[in-house]
Amino acid sequence: MTQDSLPFLPFVRPEIDEETIAGVADVLRSGWITTGPQNQAFEEQLSAFCGGRPVRTFNSGTATMEIGLRIAGVGPGDEVITTPASWVATANVILEVGATPVFVDIDPATRNIDLNLLEKAITPRTKAIIPVFLAGLPVDMDRLYDIARAYKLRVIEDAAQAFGATWRGERIGKLGDIVSFSFHANKNLTSIEGGALVLNDADEAELARKYRLQGVTRKGFDGMDCDVLGGKYNLTDVAARVGLGQLAHVERFLAQRKKLARAYFAGFEGGAAVALGVGLPAAEFENGNWHMFQITLPLERLTIDRAAVMQKLHDVYRIGSGVHYPAIHLFTLYRARGFAPGMFPHAERFGATTVTLPLFTLMTERDVARVCGAVNEICEQYGK
Ligand SMILES: *Cc1c(COP(=O)(O)O)cnc(C)c1O
Repeated sequence: MTQDSLPFLPFVRPEIDEETIAGVADVLRSGWITTGPQNQAFEEQLSAFCGGRPVRTFNSGTATMEIGLRIAGVGPGDEVITTPASWVATANVILEVGATPVFVDIDPATRNIDLNLLEKAITPRTKAIIPVFLAGLPVDMDRLYDIARAYKLRVIEDAAQAFGATWRGERIGKLGDIVSFSFHANKNLTSIEGGALVLNDADEAELARKYRLQGVTRKGFDGMDCDVLGGKYNLTDVAARVGLGQLAHVERFLAQRKKLARAYFAGFEGGAAVALGVGLPAAEFENGNWHMFQITLPLERLTIDRAAVMQKLHDVYRIGSGVHYPAIHLFTLYRARGFAPGMFPHAERFGATTVTLPLFTLMTERDVARVCGAVNEICEQYGK
């Protein structure tokens, strides 16, 4: 087989089964297509997954984060600590509620916020911490919550990528303060677009419900009041039905991702890529959900840049790849707020050198071997 005839391997592709597709058709035929019974069922199943804690769905993982901050009482004058190695939404929502983002560098091994640096960033104005579980790898939750308790800080866990991940054998979402999931098409569990907040009590759940839809509460046939300023963030029943169809497979999805991640480590072992200095993720199979498999390129030892590596993967080997993520503080919006290169060197280096390789449940171990072979060949060809 010539490489031209190879099927294209994208870096991610959702797995939607026929039962879900038929279920979506049923919802469309039912006459009730926006928030309704499917949402209620989705919230109930998510709540069961999170140890019975209250769960409210939203139309994106960005909306969940913003409303999580509002529920935690974060607003103008408050500082919120997070990491620059994340999807820009993580920091944008802090600005959206009028608060000030404070970045802390990552630990280059886990690529998550470095908890050793966290306390130094806390000031009297710090109100909350947003830890990001990059690629679905949780931070040390015991340490995180020890610090949060000691300084009386709220935690809004950006668990957008961490559905199904665990800490000490318990699912993320079962413990902790406010937990935010995203169900974007690329995440481990999808509702096309969507998200969910795991909350502490009935009052927070009620506030989430209000913020989700204009702050409105209805009573009886004709009663209506609006007592807080809410937005329009509700999830459709079509989307919720997709999410329910995914939840049925979550254990298999997790097992398959772990199997593929192990195949990546095996495929890279002793190869040209690792010999040249390609960095692999932490080989952590206890807690992480393997949302992504991200390598880092030793650019100083390559004669081509990252974009050219991605282009070769695409054009020559027919393999898709991605970048997750360029350091947030180097974006124009954040530089305008005083952030500059050199402030968070590990996040900057990671953001400039990382490449996300294909990892999704419909892949096989042979696909993984093909990706490893391509990366090894590129390193042999362009290494110096
Ligand atoms: C996907 C993602 C979000 C935002 O979720 P959306 O559903 O796309 O709005 C936030 N943070 C992280 C780390 C993400 O990966």
